[in-house]
Amino acid sequence: MSYAEADLLPISALQHLLFCPRQCALIHNEQLWAENQLTAQGRVLHERAHEPKHETRPGVRIMRSLYLSSRQFGLRGVADIVEFHRDGTLLPVEYKRGRPKANDCDRIQLCAQALCLEEMRRTTINQGALYYGQRRRRTEVTFDDNLRARTYAATRELHQLIASGKTPPAIREPKCDNCSLLDLCLPQALRFSRGAEGWFRRQIRSQL
Ligand code: SF4
Repeated sequence: MSYAEADLLPISALQHLLFCPRQCALIHNEQLWAENQLTAQGRVLHERAHEPKHETRPGVRIMRSLYLSSRQFGLRGVADIVEFHRDGTLLPVEYKRGRPKANDCDRIQLCAQALCLEEMRRTTINQGALYYGQRRRRTEVTFDDNLRARTYAATRELHQLIASGKTPPAIREPKCDNCSLLDLCLPQALRFSRGAEGWFRRQIRSQL
């Protein structure tokens, strides 16, 4: 399958999807956005990572803010850093606030960047790296079959969600406290309104 340019979805949407499908739909289908302390920290870290644009060190050329796209997977985005090593190795590096997460969302986002680079450069990329602000060092990521399969699956799910135009219902979970869209999503209010609606329906039925 080959996606048209207009149908390419942002790689960052994979992060939103993996964090919460409703958040992903609110941002990418309903065009809602809000920033909280966590997203602001991440944005500042990325802005710092993007300067200077190009740099050459012994044996490696470093490119920052490199535009990426894949017609095969229907993705587009910007890599924080791509290292072009003299031996032909390409290494994408993504900056993240905080420390490594328990889930796979950062690795999947990086793998999606690698898939774009592979298509653009007609090469194979075996490894990338995540740089966490709190640790101040790189964590290597291997793009093995397992991670690639999870990235393909997440990409398919993302396209299905966006194509559906639907926003999944809110489910209040502990992660909602870290969600920048909490005040727009109002998961508690939705739960309350559904509860109130159920109560109202039961009252009407009891009157019949
Ligand atoms: S507040 Fe919770 S349910 Fe709503 S978008 Fe954020 S994480 Fe998802």
